[in-house]
Amino acid sequence: YQNWQEMIRDRKSRTPDLLAITDDRADAVTFEELHDRIAANAAGWSATGAGPGDVIAVLGRNSIELVVNAIGIAATGALPMMLNWRLTPAELAQLGSLANPVAVVADEAFTDNAAAVCPSGRRVVLDHRAGSPSAPTSYDQAQQAPVRPLPLPDQETFALLHTSGTTGLPRVIPLTYAGHIWGCGRLSEMVGMTERDVHLRFTPLFHLAGLQEIFTALMSGGLTILREAFDPEQWLDDAEQYGVTFGHLPPVTMRRVLEAWDGRSDKPQLDNLREVWYGTAPADPAMVAQALEVFGCGLRQVYGMTEAQSPVSMLTPEDHLEPDSRLASAGRPLAEWEVRLVDAEGAEVPTGQAGEITVRGRQLFPGYWSADGAPSVVTDADGWYHSGDIGRFDDRGYLFIVDRLKDMIVTGGENVYPAEVEAALIAHPDVIETAVIGIPSDKWGEQVHAVIVLRAGSTASAADLIGFARTRLGGFKVPRSVEIVSELPRNASGKILKRTLRQSHQGIAQ
Ligand code: ATP
Ligand code: MG
Repeated sequence: YQNWQEMIRDRKSRTPDLLAITDDRADAVTFEELHDRIAANAAGWSATGAGPGDVIAVLGRNSIELVVNAIGIAATGALPMMLNWRLTPAELAQLGSLANPVAVVADEAFTDNAAAVCPSGRRVVLDHRAGSPSAPTSYDQAQQAPVRPLPLPDQETFALLHTSGTTGLPRVIPLTYAGHIWGCGRLSEMVGMTERDVHLRFTPLFHLAGLQEIFTALMSGGLTILREAFDPEQWLDDAEQYGVTFGHLPPVTMRRVLEAWDGRSDKPQLDNLREVWYGTAPADPAMVAQALEVFGCGLRQVYGMTEAQSPVSMLTPEDHLEPDSRLASAGRPLAEWEVRLVDAEGAEVPTGQAGEITVRGRQLFPGYWSADGAPSVVTDADGWYHSGDIGRFDDRGYLFIVDRLKDMIVTGGENVYPAEVEAALIAHPDVIETAVIGIPSDKWGEQVHAVIVLRAGSTASAADLIGFARTRLGGFKVPRSVEIVSELPRNASGKILKRTLRQSHQGIAQ
């Protein structure tokens, strides 16, 4: 497919009466209805004057109307900019200033934030009860308005996303047909998705994974149960009630579903499950092993980044059939990517050694979006994109994500990867979650500091935890200090915000 409208039109002609999406707002559409609502929506936006060169911000929780607007706006040639509604007005204003949207369509609850994104342009409430074209024209008028002719060139941008803002301010990423749409087609084919599949999705559409999942499902003609938020009990109920075949559980949510499962005496029937996908952050191998047992279906780990527009590597259900340690790896790179691990000087590191993950391929994004719309060049002279992640290949070509370059701690001249320290701490029976960061130290430059969430009722002290770590880690890796908290700061995709933790320790010197 060249674009989303073409894909939806094709689905309408093949399976008009099949249910496409059902959501939390008592809204449900067949492929025919979805197509027609998108066409009307596109015409509505065109009638407001929206078209090529315009950016229209979209700020809403997962809903059918959100999907309708994303595709409808893209159909006019304007760029829908999918925004995280959990961002603060200041963060939204920063993203707004990078893209200068001419309008914003937002859930009613986000009216104030909508103003921050788009202080002067048109503001439209995202509400399917208001009538399909979410733009202020009548349906009849809207039908007359011109919609942009097809096809669009391969490398053309059709939507804007942003990174999660885990390591700094979120950056705006243009999605291209060649990268994103091709990637969705590839995924759907690779795993053999069909019209009979039922997809359970709560990952937000403003992140690559969420957008990719919904479009992959639509493309293959399956039904999507679209949820606004994650709830472990509801996930189990949905999976049973709808006979869900595909689900996605980022590690934090997987853990909670497994806990909910443990807590039920009457176990839900999950026989229809074909695959549960996970990724977006490191996953604890012990938890993955448990999930394999409980779900009794294929598990697929995905490693990627918004910049790549589609997965870079995968640990597949076939890999899980083999015994052993590869549960901790992010699988093997997909055929369309070249992946090289390099040292600080840019030289390739030998197999088995850690280096920065760099990727090259046709699906790579064209560059970060800037206020004048010209993407910045982000690859090195040979076309490699430096991901900021540190990885290691084993001798069979499996990639292990070691950590993020920015999170690496340099203490007394030694490099410490927080992920390794976290894995040691999590083995303590009372530790539920932990984030290890470097905090300023007069003596060491940085010192290893662990922030820990303990199981309710635990009496473990900081000294106990440090003692435990000492039995498992080389001396320089052992935390010098431990802080016990009730919760770790996370962003909307569930990633721990280490920069927030670091900020609260600025200036502490010990
Ligand atoms: P920002 O770039 O704004 O700091 P971000 O990198 O979290 O935010 P995303 O593009 O949403 O934004 O996330 C991609 C990153 O997520 C990867 O670079 C990697 O660090 C992490 N990640 C993705 N998949 C996995 C995985 N399977 N295992 C470990 N980490 C992963
Ligand atoms: Mg990133």
